[in-house]
Amino acid sequence: MRVTPVDTIPLDDTDDRAGLRMLARRVANHDLAPNAARWDEREEFPDASWSALRAAELFATTIGERWGGMGLGDMEAAIVLEELSKVDVSSAILCQLIFNGPPRAIEHLGNDDMKDRWLRSAAAGEALFCIGITEPDAGSAATSMRARLERDNMGYRLNAYKNYVTGGHRAAACLVWCRFPDAAPPSGIGAVLVDLGSKGVTIAGTHKKMGIRGCTEAEIAFEDVRIEPEDVLIESGSGDSSGLRTLLAHLNHERCGNAAMCIGAAQGALEYAISYMAERKAGPTALADLQGLQWKLADMTIALEGSRLLLDRALALAGGPQGTPPAMETAIAKAAANQAAKYVCDEAIQLLGGYGYSREYPVERAYRDVRGLCIGAGTVEIQRNYVGANLARGRHPLNPLWSTEGPGAAVSR
Ligand SMILES: Cc1cc2nc3c(=O)[nH]c(=O)nc-3n(C[C@H](O)[C@H](O)[C@H](O)COP(=O)(O)OP(=O)(O)OC[C@H]3O[C@@H](n4cnc5c(N)ncnc54)[C@H](O)[C@@H]3O)c2cc1C
Repeated sequence: MRVTPVDTIPLDDTDDRAGLRMLARRVANHDLAPNAARWDEREEFPDASWSALRAAELFATTIGERWGGMGLGDMEAAIVLEELSKVDVSSAILCQLIFNGPPRAIEHLGNDDMKDRWLRSAAAGEALFCIGITEPDAGSAATSMRARLERDNMGYRLNAYKNYVTGGHRAAACLVWCRFPDAAPPSGIGAVLVDLGSKGVTIAGTHKKMGIRGCTEAEIAFEDVRIEPEDVLIESGSGDSSGLRTLLAHLNHERCGNAAMCIGAAQGALEYAISYMAERKAGPTALADLQGLQWKLADMTIALEGSRLLLDRALALAGGPQGTPPAMETAIAKAAANQAAKYVCDEAIQLLGGYGYSREYPVERAYRDVRGLCIGAGTVEIQRNYVGANLARGRHPLNPLWSTEGPGAAVSR
């Protein structure tokens, strides 16, 4: 029986989730917040955040218990990401890479050798992981990628140049999307896991960015890198697009994590603006007492709470730690959270006036950080393409209000 979203949306945290939220909030406020501006100003990797997250065992949240993790799902991942992003997206993204990046793909899709080799170090916070999909000439149109495997005895050789790899300069391993031998575009895309200490791997550079400056993106060159059979996560072949479909579906974890980080960062900016308005006076009147500004707070909250409910629906529909959030609901939630966060952070700057525009106050950093999240993990436009194209084909979100009869009616996903 299909459940309706109203049955599944948890409007409040359970006791366990509340405990996890409190833990993440404590680490965020005590350990991440004091250094957040520094990582941004100096474009410095947040090593102290990494140590604090590791000490609190937060990296273990989503990894299976067999490998030393807590075995929790997308909902718990989102709770942690929201709380950390309230103070610092550059630090939260370290957890995003573990929760919703390669370790989750390895656990769901990988072979036993791969799991045994990597998942313990992921849960223990001993290794960072990154994802290499984008190339200089292939971003949204991932099927145009040039990354390619050639056969080499029982294994392969990888030649690729990946661009915009978050944390790539500090990661131990990279999940590289690439085309398998003898396949022509657009088919044949699968993925391999590459130990970044391997011969032939070079960190070619890092990007200088507007936001999320503590955890930047790297360019990574792979030149004739040996790939063992057990390093293959998803195999593909000529005329085969099933591997790509599996990888794209699995990106829904990352998209939900991206949405959670947006919601957290915007929540931080909103709460900062509210407390600022209570203190700041325009003549004799506190900003908080001006109805025109109260309406801004109301609109910001309406947008943010709406996107949080959409995210909760996508997360709940994953159905637990072994499931994956569905594509349509994920695309809606990511686009909504990206747009809500950009709007909320922009308005928070406005509410602080000139101080909002100053780097001495945290709201402009939140704005710059969420701006990048609107591009990463599939742009807002690409989410809209997915939603619009599916609606036009008669598919709809899981919501009983949609008609299921007649021409153009819903079909199963
Ligand atoms: C902060 C950040 C972190 C990132 N982390 C990673 C990472 O870890 N690993 C990784 O592989 N990549 C990463 N990326 C790269 C990101 O996935 C790409 O930037 C994104 O997919 C867009 O690709 P592009 O930059 O090549 O833009 P393009 O694809 O060239 O798009 C340019 C513009 O055109 C729009 N557009 C493109 N095609 C269409 C279409 N069909 N319909 C409508 N509009 C369209 C896009 O939305 C965009 O606005 C990251 C990017 C950012 C900003």
